[in-house]
Amino acid sequence: METIFEKIINRKIPAEILLENEHVIAIKDISPKAPVHILIITKKVIPSFQELKEEDYYLLGEVAKAANKLAKEFNIEKGFRILSNTGTSSGQTIYHLHFHLLGGRDLNAMG
Ligand code: AMP
Repeated sequence: METIFEKIINRKIPAEILLENEHVIAIKDISPKAPVHILIITKKVIPSFQELKEEDYYLLGEVAKAANKLAKEFNIEKGFRILSNTGTSSGQTIYHLHFHLLGGRDLNAMG
């Protein structure tokens, strides 16, 4: 079964797409936890961070490149957070590898 993110990648459901290339797509989170809350999603379907295989590690570079570009574009270079919830007890709800890019507010306290 396709994940929500596959449906977005395949244009079956709409999303606000901020960046897209061969490897990743970045969209606005539908339920933002900060003024800037972007999801950077790998196009390759990998259920979670812990299921990344060595041959997939180049994708982490692609995510880094996209995150730094978006941080500049959204003027949050002074402070942002990137995280990937991994596993049910972390709060992961969509089992398709993605990274949250958060910024635009004081992020000192975790949460
Ligand atoms: P996680 O809980 O780490 O798996 O993150 C899933 C994220 O996807 C949550 O922050 C949701 O708000 C977000 N989300 C769920 N459905 C959509 C959607 N259709 N478009 C954009 N973001 C979504």
